[in-house]
Amino acid sequence: MKKIEHIGIAVKNLEKSNKLFASLFGEPSYKIEEVASEGVKTSFFASGPNKIELLQATNPNSPIAKFIENKGEGIHHIAFAVLDIEEEVKRLQNEGFVVLNEIPKKGADNKLVVFLHPKSTNGVLIELCQEID
Ligand code: ZN
Repeated sequence: MKKIEHIGIAVKNLEKSNKLFASLFGEPSYKIEEVASEGVKTSFFASGPNKIELLQATNPNSPIAKFIENKGEGIHHIAFAVLDIEEEVKRLQNEGFVVLNEIPKKGADNKLVVFLHPKSTNGVLIELCQEID
């Protein structure tokens, strides 16, 4: 894995959180994008070379709605950039990690993404992402 690509934070109200994080970072979100297939609306902030992704559920069955119901708002996942997501999935499966979606799916911010089940990663939801050229 190359580096941390972004940190995802689950929020109840994206509009309110956009304002909060804009004052925290001193600049507004640079991208707002809905990923209908995942039931989320996302908003990205830059903090120097690092990125924060806010996620709000767009329907009650969204994974974000369930996360907030169980744990409340807060850090939802850590995303790592990888060069070859299919190779990385094979490698991690060989190491015994549980992959939630074996076939990479299209996520926000022009990425192919795969998630690892938190039960195999000490309770942390890990996202692998590869830039789509
Ligand atoms: Zn993410």
